[in-house]
Amino acid sequence: MKPHQQTILTPVSCSGVGVHSGKTVNLTIKPAPVNQGIRFVRTDLPGHPGVTAHFNNVVDTSLATVIGAEGCIVSTVEHLMAGFVGMSIDNATVEVDAYELPIMDGSAGPFTQLIKSAGTQPQEGPKCYFKVTKTISLSENGKSVTIHPADEFRLTCSIVYDHPLIGTQTCDFTIDSLTFEKEICSARTFGFLEEVELMKRYGLARGGSLDNAVVIDGDQVLNEGGLRYPDEFVRHKALDCLGDFSLIGMPIMGHVVTSKSGHAFNHAFLEKFFDDKESWNTCTLTCESV
Ligand SMILES: [Zn+2]
Repeated sequence: MKPHQQTILTPVSCSGVGVHSGKTVNLTIKPAPVNQGIRFVRTDLPGHPGVTAHFNNVVDTSLATVIGAEGCIVSTVEHLMAGFVGMSIDNATVEVDAYELPIMDGSAGPFTQLIKSAGTQPQEGPKCYFKVTKTISLSENGKSVTIHPADEFRLTCSIVYDHPLIGTQTCDFTIDSLTFEKEICSARTFGFLEEVELMKRYGLARGGSLDNAVVIDGDQVLNEGGLRYPDEFVRHKALDCLGDFSLIGMPIMGHVVTSKSGHAFNHAFLEKFFDDKESWNTCTLTCESV
């Protein structure tokens, strides 16, 4: 955990395909001032409107996390957002020239390398945390998210699939940059072949391919080279969870435990968490209240 805020040192760019549009998207990450947070700017729209990555601005969570404000919609922000949390970047401006971020390889690995290549710039402002003071939980239809008080940011995720390749998987990490880079950032999104074909029939997942997702057909992984981790599926859930939880606007000091959760349920939990002002306070690393 860092006492001060950080941004990146120099602008960096990448290009890739949008998973649903199938179109090429150019993305540039630029340094940003203290207390800005992560802001997305649409350079393809007149006047270059922007939207801050905050859960109040989430407009859709059905297929990916979509944020929007004042005529600016940006879709599929969760993997890049996880990259910012994982690499402890608090402030950055992300310029994109389409509504959808590039999917890259379906993980946060390429974004993490991009952020690393930009270098980090410590900033004057202290970093503020949501310090969890009381356990808070949301459960519904077998899904649950809980946060317990802790002096670090720890994440435990479980998934249960009635499928021989996945079954029940659990991962448990204390999040820091090294652990994120080594254990989480390269885990790819996954899907079943029949679902991908169905989405394509409805004009979705046009850019989806074996280059940007683990695809399962029957009891086989279709990707050459197989899985990157034996439990890559649950590690990707952890990655999505980091991206979703980053939308609360400040890092969390607490132990997050999720079971069978996804973008929509994580978002519902964040709203409950934010409203329950008795279960957290905001403080700096030296525990000065802010
Ligand atoms: Zn994902």
